[in-house]
Amino acid sequence: MRKTVLDKIKGLLLDQRREMVDEVKAHEGLKAGESNREFRDPEERAAGLGDVLVDDQIAGHDVNLLEKIDYALERIEQGTYERCASCGEVIPKERLLAKPSASLCVTCQAAKEP
Ligand SMILES: [Zn+2]
Repeated sequence: MRKTVLDKIKGLLLDQRREMVDEVKAHEGLKAGESNREFRDPEERAAGLGDVLVDDQIAGHDVNLLEKIDYALERIEQGTYERCASCGEVIPKERLLAKPSASLCVTCQAAKEP
């Protein structure tokens, strides 16, 4: 892969990472405000707790993607980014440009999914 393409992908990953970090931080701020809030009646309290649970699920998802982005950036530094982490085949750059956090080729990704 040409260095210019790799630089572009690295830029995409760093942008995505910045967005994710902001989002996770926003969620944490929201949750802190949520737990400090006084609930006036039990019904309102139950609704509030439901919101917190949904937020936790979203936050968990974000952290997962953050890890993938970090892993991809690490692989770029090590010069192994183009190679599938499972079988070692070269991943087509079209796939990497479309999904920069991917670390597996299409075949291995499909095998991993249930
Ligand atoms: Zn593979």
